[in-house]
Amino acid sequence: MTVQSILKHKAKGNGPTAVTVQSSATVMEAARKLAQFKIGAVVVTKIDGGVAGILSERDIVRRIAEVGPDILSVPVRDVMTREVVTCTAETTVDEVMARMTHGRFRHMPVIDANNRLVDVISIGDVVKRHVEDVEHEATALREYIYTH
Ligand code: AMP
Repeated sequence: MTVQSILKHKAKGNGPTAVTVQSSATVMEAARKLAQFKIGAVVVTKIDGGVAGILSERDIVRRIAEVGPDILSVPVRDVMTREVVTCTAETTVDEVMARMTHGRFRHMPVIDANNRLVDVISIGDVVKRHVEDVEHEATALREYIYTH
């Protein structure tokens, strides 16, 4: 199973495909986006649509604990993680899970062949899909048992 099969079924609602901020935005502006879209991380994008970094709620909470609430007025570029692990639509879900487990993070930007951001996949998307697959398999097994 690939990332593409999860993205196809991801409920988008009315929100954007991937929620992004510019690196010059303040941490407060990024926090407002996390709250507005009920998500755990925003991707920081370059002018050309490439990935410059990622900022998760954990980064914000950690920096508030270290520095205090003044951190909310600094630019995202000073707080974001710069070494971002990404995947493409062709990456397998097993590989995404391995990268997330190894890196201890829950979000992964999906990029295209030109390194431009196309979407974000979260551990929640992966788990939701896994639960659906297990439920389908159980239903199919039950039907098989009742009809044989
Ligand atoms: P998360 O578990 O995704 O909320 O993030 C935990 C930490 O990992 C934070 O410092 C994030 O900035 C960082 N992080 C999140 N996603 C990624 C990623 N795909 N690549 C590298 N670091 C990440």
